[in-house]
Amino acid sequence: MHLLIPAAGSGSRMKAGKNKLLIELEGESLIYWTLRSIFSASLISWVGLIGQPKDKEYILNSIKDFSNKVKWINGGNTRQESVKNGLNSLPKDAEKVLIHDGARCLINPTLINKCALELEENDAVVLATKVTDTIKIVDDSGFIKETPNRNYLWAAQTPQGFLVDRLKNAHKIATDKNWVVTDDASLFEMLNWKVKIIEGNYKNIKVTSPIDLKIAKLFLKNF
Ligand code: C5P
Repeated sequence: MHLLIPAAGSGSRMKAGKNKLLIELEGESLIYWTLRSIFSASLISWVGLIGQPKDKEYILNSIKDFSNKVKWINGGNTRQESVKNGLNSLPKDAEKVLIHDGARCLINPTLINKCALELEENDAVVLATKVTDTIKIVDDSGFIKETPNRNYLWAAQTPQGFLVDRLKNAHKIATDKNWVVTDDASLFEMLNWKVKIIEGNYKNIKVTSPIDLKIAKLFLKNF
């Protein structure tokens, strides 16, 4: 199974002054830990790492031996553009692909394999967890408009997996129609294409703000 890692963000919410994936946790970069999990997943045979050209040298140095096992792909200005670049750099024979955010360094290899297996049975899959908070939809003035029924709410994570031709087609349509999305499953939904939810775990956080670094450190200590 092929896997693409979007890792071309600026990490502005982390306020670290550099790509958050280069921040060190327990002696290794955040992106190193992500790759370590991915290369521990037995079903993954090809990995594309999508990053900003300015980060290339730093990222490849920080991931040590994994740098010889990944294909480097230049990212774009948005996650959507970065994934599109990744899709265009897949080997011609790639029929299915998993996409996993570089910032989710606590992903369990077993869950990566589970997504790969489920993708054999489905055109699109998304790892997700049941929402435990009560979620509010809020208007522009900061007042609550609506409280959706929590029984139907799931928080989408990655890996997300897709048939390559379908996802490429979805990205092409999105570009033509100026659709802007924050994950790839959204494109399938907008096209009324089915996406299967796979239950993941709450440990698989996307390291986004400084408090997430503290959580990630705690888990990596016991790695
Ligand atoms: O911005 P967000 O936290 O949703 O980003 C999710 C993932 O997408 C991160 O791993 C980030 O590095 C990646 N990304 C990207 N290209 C961008 C912006 C974000 O690959 N231009």
